[in-house]
Amino acid sequence: RKGSVIITGASSGLGLATAKALAETGKWHVIMACRDFLKAERAAKSAGMSKENYTIMHLDLASLDSVRQFVDSYKRSGRPLDVLVCNAAVYQPTAKEPSFTAEGFELSVGTNHLGHFLLSRLLLDDLTQSDYPLKRLIIVGSITGNTNTLAGNVPPKANLGDLRGLAGGLNGLNSATMIDGGDFDGAKAYKDSKVCNMLTMQEFHRRFHEETGITFASLYPGCIATTGLFREHIPLFRLLFPPFQKYITKGFVSEEEAGKRLAQVVSDPSLTKSGVYWSWNKDSASFENQLSPEASDQEKARKIWEQSEKLVGLA
Ligand code: NDP
Repeated sequence: RKGSVIITGASSGLGLATAKALAETGKWHVIMACRDFLKAERAAKSAGMSKENYTIMHLDLASLDSVRQFVDSYKRSGRPLDVLVCNAAVYQPTAKEPSFTAEGFELSVGTNHLGHFLLSRLLLDDLTQSDYPLKRLIIVGSITGNTNTLAGNVPPKANLGDLRGLAGGLNGLNSATMIDGGDFDGAKAYKDSKVCNMLTMQEFHRRFHEETGITFASLYPGCIATTGLFREHIPLFRLLFPPFQKYITKGFVSEEEAGKRLAQVVSDPSLTKSGVYWSWNKDSASFENQLSPEASDQEKARKIWEQSEKLVGLA
């Protein structure tokens, strides 16, 4: 049978390119889990994906009700689940004020981390039950949360501090909107959410890899400077960022190439190692990359896991 893979945020950028790359192999049925049905349908069509290779299902990660509804519909569809890719993200680098999810969490951490945390916890059983030879849970990370790299040292740096804001619910009422308890900063909130993504992947690995055989992985696909992620940035930034990445840092990858990289983490039989953060070198060869001290801090990973369980109603 074909493998079944859910990709969140498959209506643009990396998620769409990955959906296309997997659909084209004819070996995968891609469930595009998207908040905007029409946009996803148009995107799949214009990427030339053929109908028998994908299904669009509604998922808004900024609402825990929507996450639960998505999981219910998926379970009722009777489809097996072989790979889950947590890819969707919001980035609000120029926002002066925080915005919030349906439950009142600051939007970047609420969507990128908490929405995906609940989704992957609720779908873990389905992955465990899959009889597919490769079962994987992939959470897209980023270099920007990794302060052991040049890119990760561009201020404001990721820093989760003692998690006091997360413990308070990130709602700006009885707690701060930032995980570390500081004042709102949209760019930092995104980076913090990516650190949570990478810590969550490792915590999944420690808790469930041996027992379930699932491969847990994260990755940095390269700088895909052309995606919608930068849609809220100032126009001058959007004009100069792609050539800057192409010619100066040389970290630029096309959406197509990044999609092939993530598709590799989904389906390549040689990338079975669990608990790994994958990156690619200049010749586009994959390698196991090192995470920053904070993004590999086991104690923090455990605390984030426990706090997140409380916030999404699992504890
Ligand atoms: P895009 O903005 O192109 O794609 C993000 C996707 O997430 C879109 O499909 C968007 O949906 C979806 N999304 C946003 N909010 C929600 C929500 N509440 N519910 C469901 N879906 C939602 O950005 P990229 O393709 O660049 O980003 C994809 C991943 O790659 C992210 O995890 C990002 O952190 C990571 N990444 C990107 C890098 C880059 O250089 N671009 C570098 C490193 C990592 P919609 O189409 O409806 O807006």
